Amino acid sequence: ARRTLIAGNWKMNGLSADAKALAGGLAEKLKAAGEVNFEMLVCPPAIMIPVVAAAISGSTMQLGGQDNHMNEKGAHTGDTSAAMLKDAGCGYAIVGHSERRTDHGESDEVVKAKAAAAQANGLVAVVCIGETEAQRDAGKTLDVNGSQIAGSVPDGSTSANTVIAYEPVWAIGTGRTPTSAEVQDVHAFIRAELAKKIGQAEADKTRILYGGSMNPKNAKELLALADVDGGLIGGASLKVDDFWAVAQSA
Ligand code: 13P
Repeated sequence: ARRTLIAGNWKMNGLSADAKALAGGLAEKLKAAGEVNFEMLVCPPAIMIPVVAAAISGSTMQLGGQDNHMNEKGAHTGDTSAAMLKDAGCGYAIVGHSERRTDHGESDEVVKAKAAAAQANGLVAVVCIGETEAQRDAGKTLDVNGSQIAGSVPDGSTSANTVIAYEPVWAIGTGRTPTSAEVQDVHAFIRAELAKKIGQAEADKTRILYGGSMNPKNAKELLALADVDGGLIGGASLKVDDFWAVAQSA
């Protein structure tokens, strides 16, 4: 059985006091809840990682970066290596988010190299894929997601070092989501494409998260879908009560 992962992508939001309060508040909720049927992950801005690591210590809250460079080290001004994330206490790194594909021109090839670097440094790579609205309108949703799986997931990936996040670009921050039937169809398709790459047994064990306007109102229905194994949440991960409510929907 795949363990539900409720992941928060804070993007470029908050200052250290906010990060401390949010992470600390969530860690308290987790501690008070005791045994739960889901895992939680927060992915703060890189500079907030140490503050968040301190705030969640002693809880089961997991920590991740929002991106890592493909290279181990060297002359890459402004970038963060996977080893640095690991060293700071991260277990995960998001790679290939559509905002990075757009803002920083990251291709599938770059995303794949970043995912491989994360995996090589003992991180779980959360590989993001998803179609734009124009691609969806053109009936290319499955084509686009299939080619992103083929191009962005490193060969030799396993269910232990890889999570896929399906994030329709047009659903991010818009309050719009695909129907549940559409989400399930795309997730099942993604799992089948992943199986071509890493084998059916590993694909069956790999968590595929849905992302894009997931919130306390729609989380229960989305998380109940057969091939949805958690969520990658933006806006609704920035408030303790909202993010906790999403997790409680698992
Ligand atoms: P929203 O939940 O704000 O739509 O963002 C989703 C997302 O991009 C998470 O990575």
